[in-house]
This record gives sequence, structure tokens and C-alpha cells, in this order.
Amino acid sequence: MMPLNWNRSEPGPEPLNWGIMPERKDSDSRKLLLRLRETLAAPGSGQHRLDQITHHIADSMGTQVCSIYLFRDAETLELCATEGLKQASVHKTRLRLGEGLVGRVARTGRHVNTANAPAEPGFRFMPETGEEVYPSFLGVPIQRVGEKLGVLVVQSREARQFSEDEIYGLEVVAMVLAEMAELGVFLGSQSDGLPLAHRFPVMFRGTTGQEGAAEGRVWLHEPRVVISNPVADDPLKEKARLNEGVAMLRTNVDLMLSGSDVEGGDSAEVMEAYRLFAHSRSWLRRMEEAIDLGLSAEAAVEKEQGQARARLESASDPYLRDRLHDLDDLSNRLLRILTGQGKDTGAEMPENPILVARNIGPAELLDYGRKLKGVVLEEGSVGSHAAIVARALAIPLVIHADRVIAEALNGDPILVDGDSGVVHLRPEESVAIAFRDKMAMQAEAQSRYAGLRDLPATSPCGTTIQLYMNAGLMADLPSLDGSGAEGVGLFRTELQFLTRTRVPRRGELAALYAHVLDSAHGKPVMFRTLDIGSDKVLPYMKPQDEPNPAMGWRAIRVGLDKRGVLRMQLQALIRAAVGKPLYVMFPFITEMQEFEDAHRLLMEQLAREQRLGHAMPSDIRVGAMLETPSLAFAPKKFFEMCDFISVGGNDLKQFFFAADRENERVRRRYDTLNTSFITLLDQIVQRCNAANVPVSFCGEDAGRPIEAVTFAALGFRRLSMRPASIGPVKHLIRRVNLAELRGVIDEGRARGDTNLRRAVTEWLAVQ
Ligand code: PEP
Ligand code: MG
Repeated sequence: MMPLNWNRSEPGPEPLNWGIMPERKDSDSRKLLLRLRETLAAPGSGQHRLDQITHHIADSMGTQVCSIYLFRDAETLELCATEGLKQASVHKTRLRLGEGLVGRVARTGRHVNTANAPAEPGFRFMPETGEEVYPSFLGVPIQRVGEKLGVLVVQSREARQFSEDEIYGLEVVAMVLAEMAELGVFLGSQSDGLPLAHRFPVMFRGTTGQEGAAEGRVWLHEPRVVISNPVADDPLKEKARLNEGVAMLRTNVDLMLSGSDVEGGDSAEVMEAYRLFAHSRSWLRRMEEAIDLGLSAEAAVEKEQGQARARLESASDPYLRDRLHDLDDLSNRLLRILTGQGKDTGAEMPENPILVARNIGPAELLDYGRKLKGVVLEEGSVGSHAAIVARALAIPLVIHADRVIAEALNGDPILVDGDSGVVHLRPEESVAIAFRDKMAMQAEAQSRYAGLRDLPATSPCGTTIQLYMNAGLMADLPSLDGSGAEGVGLFRTELQFLTRTRVPRRGELAALYAHVLDSAHGKPVMFRTLDIGSDKVLPYMKPQDEPNPAMGWRAIRVGLDKRGVLRMQLQALIRAAVGKPLYVMFPFITEMQEFEDAHRLLMEQLAREQRLGHAMPSDIRVGAMLETPSLAFAPKKFFEMCDFISVGGNDLKQFFFAADRENERVRRRYDTLNTSFITLLDQIVQRCNAANVPVSFCGEDAGRPIEAVTFAALGFRRLSMRPASIGPVKHLIRRVNLAELRGVIDEGRARGDTNLRRAVTEWLAVQ
């Protein structure tokens, strides 16, 4: 047979150089794909079919060698079939990921094309295969949208570079093979021992979004589209399907973008770029050309998507990465249109579902609610809305689990260790057993803590600390009884605003706040007024183009500038608390004037409600959140004006150390028990005591036992934390003499320690 003619033109000018496109349609390539399809459909063992495939490919491409290497496990590739190399090396020759040219293709997801393989860096000679007489080498990854399955190689005796057309053609073949492997076609008999992706255990090291451990089964937020027909006989029909699908995609995208009221600024530009992609003629043309080579419409979409994914992996420019993500997202939408596989693929949610997603919004996460046992995200951040909701739902969350979507399949067993940020997919039994032991120990500890529920957090020195909980959802309220919390020290009201598509109405909010107060059964609830801005951007709020949103127009700054929403919220709170005490707390107060203004606004609303004849709360207490260092140095009058003060340690720490709480690189760099920070907290307590104003600590650190006892020793008499932390914190407080611990802290400071953690933990260990 004559070698296939894969002639194609050089790449045309492309805006982002997505790839190359063939100019000539080639019916020979389609013939090869059809032959492959027939081979794959024919009876016989998987090994026999693989052998046939290598034969057909070598024959079509006019090469002496064609070999298929597949992953044996996550790190090892195995020669599984060959035409031209020694048959004795099949299932014997193995390479590590990254080893030799084959390993390089597998690791990078990019082809290697050389006329002189031995001269290539990293070349590894495998004498058992007899490959030394074939200097030309072309290897392409066998992958399915970035999910690596193996490597397809052709080699020839004649020393030559393969043309762009040949590379493209081989990539199309590899793409079809990937689909077939996915369908399990190669597993004609188990004795073949052929490996497939999605079979071996994989561990992901991410970051803790929410502590806790969970065992369950994968539930993909956006399930993978299954392509059952990668090869097609009728290109005209496939192109018509593709064009219809793209037309529908464009309409959907236009509709979606016209519905979002973004005017100008970066976001508008980003959305315009997204629209441009959807309307890109070259994207459509490249997919049509893949159809000409024999692919079905959906396989052509996936081929383009796979190339974009491979580029995404190596692109470091954040703008380029975002655009590649856009293209990926559009490809997914198009695939769903073409296959009719929407989010609802008919799959049944497994028991103990663990949600796996690239990222997820707070509203979507709330929709799943407490059904979920855990969440694993490829992206996300510790301070993100999703993390706040996961925390509120008390489900373990791991973020930054890179590549988990490509690896996980619906129903796969999965272990989520939120404490260490580690995820085990399809774990080995020994790992699962160790994990279950850990969960059992945690459950045992929790049941021990449950015994403390009705006991006070009283230290052996006689000091009692009030333990409150943080909340933000109605769903949190049952924890008030379960955890033994004495009240809600921080009710984050922004969650109700974040999960809606419009500003909630006063009546809705009043009803919700009333419900919260009813469920609290007389325990105090400190409502924090809307804390938006920074990372908490409301979907219906015009995004602000701020270089530094955490230090930008946020929280009380927005409330005082746009008083309508704050007034409405205050009125709703007043109406909700009829006949009950109402605690209102203003976030992110930076100077006294802001507190005075907000306080006045609240008093005006009270007067108004009274004028309108509404019944009043039985008492009003107004507090400030101390979240910026400047407020610690406010005039004495400020402390005297407040009915209570709550230290928002998450923000206070980020501004004290100038370290972004959402930036993983710097977030952990500065310790809460750093002597300077402890000295600041000590001064805050002293100033509050001097003004006789109660002070609490409600940042995440309050829920960490060592930090919590340190704060208590400094003089904080109230700590507010997530409900699950109350048990461990109470347990430690009841065993630690706070007065003595205070002495340890003072000694460390007098000694000049820069960090007190060591002194504190060593002393605690002795205790
Ligand atoms: C804080 O900053 O510590 C705090 C409790 O508020 P948030 O985490 O909601 O910013
Ligand atoms: Mg804060």
C-alpha cells in the first residue's frame, strides 16, 4: 500500500496559535480510521486487536514500526503491541514516566518528532526491542482531553522528520484509540493484563479548605461526556451536526452574556473574549478538518479540546491560561449539545457522594447541601464563597487538587483528608484501612467531646470562657444545640446575598432573621451586617475594577456609601427581633468615625420603625469587628461607645502581617502565635478591659485548641468558632491553667522569643 498522503499546509496566522490545520482533506486517513473501527469491533482478544491496529497504522503511514505503549500504573508505561519491533519485548519493555522519548511524550502530552532519535536529549536505548535500526521517531500521546492513557509511536529506517500532516494524522488516530481504550475495547480478556487509565490508585496533594475526613464515591459536578462513536463514515452529515451544534452554542453564549449586566472594565473584556471564541471561524474550521480526516463531530471537538488542554498544562501566562480555560469550557458545552448529555446524564448519585469539580459557586454547593460527604476542587481558594459554604455545611473540602477531574470517574471510591489536604482516588486497601482508623479515632474523640457538651469551659484556675459558634446559614442552627455553643458569635449575613440572583427583599430577610432567632431558643445571635467586596462579589453587583480588593471598597465602606442596602438590612433585623434582644455588629471598622456613622444609621432606623408603629426589640447591643490594626489604636471613646467588640482574626492577621489570607504562598508564613501579633491582641484586650467592653475572638484561629487557650490566657473571655471545634477547644480549656499559661506567655515575651508557639506547646505537653 502507498504511504498515506497527509499533506497539509503550514499553520496559518492564528490569534493564539492554537494549532495547525490541514488544508487537504484526505480520504485515506478516513479509510484508516474505518479499518481501525472494524478491527476494534471484530471478535477476538484485545491483544489481537492491538496487534492489528499497529499493523494497519504502520502500513498506512509507510513506516516499518508502529508501537503502542500504555500506562501500567500512574508512573509506568508498557509496550503493549508493536509492528516491526521484536515481539518478545511486548509486555516486557517498560519505561518510567519521563524516561526516554516515549516517556517524554507521555509526561508532556506533546509529540516528539525527530530524524535522529539517539541524538535527542533523554533518549534511552532499549536493546530488547531491536529499535536501533530505526532512527526516525514520531510519538504522540494517546490521551482523552488531557487524560493520559499512553503513547503511539511510529519509527522508520529512513532518517527523516515526519511532516506536520503526518503528525496531525497520527494524533487523530491516537485520539480514536483513546476513545476505544476508554470503552474498554482493549480488555478483550482479563489475561491480556492491559492497563487502562482510571484503574490505579492516585493521590492528590491539595490544600485544606475545610478540615475533616470523609470516605465515599465520586460524584462529578459536570460529568464527563461519553463519546461512543469517534469514527464517522459521512463527513457531510457530521459537519452539518457540528454546524448546528455550534449555532446553538453561539445562541446560548450570546443569551448568557446579554443576561449579565457587566458594563465596561476587565470583566466585559473577558466576556467579549469568550464570545469571540464561540464565534471563532478558525475553531470551527479546525474541527471540520478533523471530521474530514474521519472523526465524528464530537470526536473532532474533543480533539481540539485535547490540544488546548495540552497547551494549558504548559502555559504560564495567566491571560493565556484563562483563554484556554474559556476554550475548554466552550468545548464542554458543545460536547453536551452534540451528545445530548446534559448535566443530567441519568447517572444515579452514589451513596456518600463526594463532589469533584473544577470549581463551584456557593449557590450550587448549597443546592447539594448536606447530601455531600466531601468536596474536592481543582481550583478554589480558602477564603472563597464555596469554602465558606463548605465550612458552614461542615463538610471536608480540599482545594487545588490538580488534575483530579481528568482522573476521577463517577462512582470511583475516594478518601478526602481535609486536615492534610490529601485526596486518595481508588485507594489501595491498606490506605483505606489506615484512613478508616483515623476517621474512627476522630469519631471517638467527637463522642468524647459530646460528653462535655453541657459542661462549662472552665479552666482549673477557675476562669470560664464562653464558647460561641460562627454561622451563616439556617442549616447551621441545629448545631447550636448539638455543639453546646452558648450563642452565635458571628452570623455572616452575606451568604443570603451571595446565593441569590438579586438583592433579597426586606420582608424575606426579616423572615429569615426571625427564623434564626427562633431557632436559637433565646441564645444570643450576633448578626454581622453585610460584609461584601474583596472576594465576596455579589452576582448582581457591578464588579469594581480594584487593584487590591481586600483593601478596597468592601464591608462597612460599601454599607456607608450605598446606604440603601444597609438601611434595608438594619430594618429587617429590627423587625425580626421584636420583643427579643438584638445584637448588631459592623464589619471592618477601621476608624472611629465609621462606627459612629453606622451606629447613627442604626439609631435612625430604630426611630423610623418606631414612628411607623412597629414593635421594637427588647434591647439593642451594637458592636464593631476589629479587623484592621488601626482600630486597636482608636481613641478611648471608640471602645466606650461599643457594646461589644469582636476581633476578626482572619482579616486582622492578613493586614498585620501584610499577607493575603487567600494567597497560599504567603498565608501560612506568619504564625498566629508570633510574639508581635500576640502583643497586639494583648493590647486589644487591655483597651477593651479598660473601657469595660466585652471582647471576643471570632476568626478561624479561635477554633484551634492551642491558639484558643492562648487567647483565653490573654484575657479573651469569649471565643466564636465553627461548631465542630467547640468540643476540642473546651476539652483543652478544662485541662489548662490559664493563669499559669499567661505566665508562660509573659516569660517568652520577656525572653525575646519571636514566636511563642514553642514555649506554649512545650508547656502544654508537660501539662
Ligand atoms: C475575620 O476576618 O476574622 C472574620 C471573622 O470575618 P470573615 O472571615 O468573614 O472576613
Ligand atoms: Mg473579616
